[in-house]
Amino acid sequence: HKQRLIALEKDRMLGQLAATISHEIRNPLTSTRGFIQLLNQKELTHYDQKRYIELALSGVDQANTIINDYLNYAKPSSGLHEQLDIKEEVEAMLRFIMPFATDHQVVIDILHENEDPLYILGESKKLRQCLINLIKNAIESMPDGGIITLTTCKLPNAVQVSIIDTGVGMSKTQLNSLGMPFYTTKEHGTGLGLVVVMSIIQMMNGTISFSSHLNQGTQCSLLFKQH
Ligand code: ADP
Ligand code: MG
Repeated sequence: HKQRLIALEKDRMLGQLAATISHEIRNPLTSTRGFIQLLNQKELTHYDQKRYIELALSGVDQANTIINDYLNYAKPSSGLHEQLDIKEEVEAMLRFIMPFATDHQVVIDILHENEDPLYILGESKKLRQCLINLIKNAIESMPDGGIITLTTCKLPNAVQVSIIDTGVGMSKTQLNSLGMPFYTTKEHGTGLGLVVVMSIIQMMNGTISFSSHLNQGTQCSLLFKQH
């Protein structure tokens, strides 16, 4: 019964999400249309022409980001849970995100507290997507660059991954809004990153927790059952 209830709730949430998404995509497309119309005027300075093109492109990019994030969420999972070494997953994700970190003057320190592999059950692609979304948020929380500390450790019967940044941090109200579709404080944010993260963690029967202080930084911890 409980399983069915959760499935129904997820369907309802996806339905609501789809409705809001059409709206969120229409906005940047409407503004893009406006700038293309402006470009159609006879006498335009070279400067204005360049500006309108850039604004039109940024509208298309924004729409594209929303579609990407949403499609990732809606993509069905393979349903196959394989044995994964969380340390290996962290390393693989890092190779992927490193250029983005370097671009933002962010250094990533890794601390594996155990020599041995730390096995959990899950789907590698989804887990990496989840780690990428979290690291991306950590990087974006440090506009002037900084350090991210990534740790993995073994607890009794469980495995923990933490992502610690020294960024802008969050207030209590902000913390309570995390994971709400379209909640974002960024100019070009989608507010879908954490929706995806939370849905993946739930699928893997894991837990996620945040602790944060304004202007000091944020720690996000993931907990999975050890396999
Ligand atoms: P987006 O990154 O597109 O804004 P997310 O769902 O990934 O959407 O994050 C939602 C919001 O949560 C962010 O806009 C930000 O306000 C807050 N947030 C998430 N992670 C962090 C972090 N590490 N530090 C500070 N704020 C964060
Ligand atoms: Mg994000």
